[in-house]
Amino acid sequence: MEQHDCIIIGSGPAGYTAAIYAARADLKPIMYMGLQPGGQLTTTTEVDNFPGYPQGVDGNAMMEDLKNQAERFGTDIRFGIVTKTELNPEVGGYHTLTIDESTQVQARTVIISTGASAKYLGLPAEEKFMGFGVSACAVCDGFFYKGQEVVVVGAGDTAAEEATYLAKLCPKVTMLVRRDEMRASKAMQNRVLETKNITVLWNTETVDLVGDDKGLTGVQVKNNQTGEEETIPATGFFVAIGHKPNTDIFKGQIDMDDTGYIKTKADSTATNFPGVFCSGDAQDKIYRQAVTAAGTGCMAALESERYLGALGH
Ligand code: NDP
Repeated sequence: MEQHDCIIIGSGPAGYTAAIYAARADLKPIMYMGLQPGGQLTTTTEVDNFPGYPQGVDGNAMMEDLKNQAERFGTDIRFGIVTKTELNPEVGGYHTLTIDESTQVQARTVIISTGASAKYLGLPAEEKFMGFGVSACAVCDGFFYKGQEVVVVGAGDTAAEEATYLAKLCPKVTMLVRRDEMRASKAMQNRVLETKNITVLWNTETVDLVGDDKGLTGVQVKNNQTGEEETIPATGFFVAIGHKPNTDIFKGQIDMDDTGYIKTKADSTATNFPGVFCSGDAQDKIYRQAVTAAGTGCMAALESERYLGALGH
């Protein structure tokens, strides 16, 4: 079985930053990229708030830059999904990871950077129309709805970004906001409110999705103040209501909170297992920014280096 000093799980800003630091510290890190190589930023449009890009940067281009930087220092970047973990509670012990349900590899330190995934409302119709009207990624799927009317549900930065992106392709975008205000940053809210072909329906919730065997035709909504219901004609329904941490493979082993975010020690990325560190959105439900994920990725690599150093490696 392969044995390594450091394995990084996940390839978002946290994973790549951990890789850059770990590789420069000569830990010869191995990275398993996971289900969505490059992470969530590969589904976003422009990233305007990552320091160092005064004109903004395309999410995919930024992740490619991070990948190239991690590779430049010798990170061994591999396709593959970690499907099982057997973490060792002994200091200095090897942790065993199963890749794609077949190969096993071991490492003394593991950096978890598995990020988070989009949440859905939980309506049976979402599953029925998945790929035929329902999407959680405007950048991935918006093109298929060019020239058609669409609905976006959510009121955070993701929803605002999806709505403005779709407004460039679609003649009418309706945004469903369940309260009388949005959670999105003021700048993003202004962008939505200033876009002529976006209509915001306040205090409005999704009741059901309607359609036929060809796909979605409308979204049934209800005003939660007046009780009034209507069906908005739409062929696309974009869900943008937040994310769930990708931590299921660690359940029953690593300490996590009741929503699945991995618990780390104060001012540290250390988990309850020696040599297992967690960075990025898998442990952060407060900030969830690329730059904060990168910051904790750096911390995880430095902590891995110190842990191995203390073991005499
Ligand atoms: P958020 O958790 O910030 O927002 C989720 C939104 O979905 C909230 O408005 C919430 O409503 C709404 N919502 C949740 N459940 C339901 C439901 N069942 N029905 C209707 N609405 C629902 O998630 P985001 O994905 O928007 O953002 C996550 C983080 O990523 C944030 O920190 C954000 O700032 C950041 N981000 C930054 C971007 C950028 O800088 N370019 C782009 C995208 C995200 P309510 O407000 O009522 O709770």
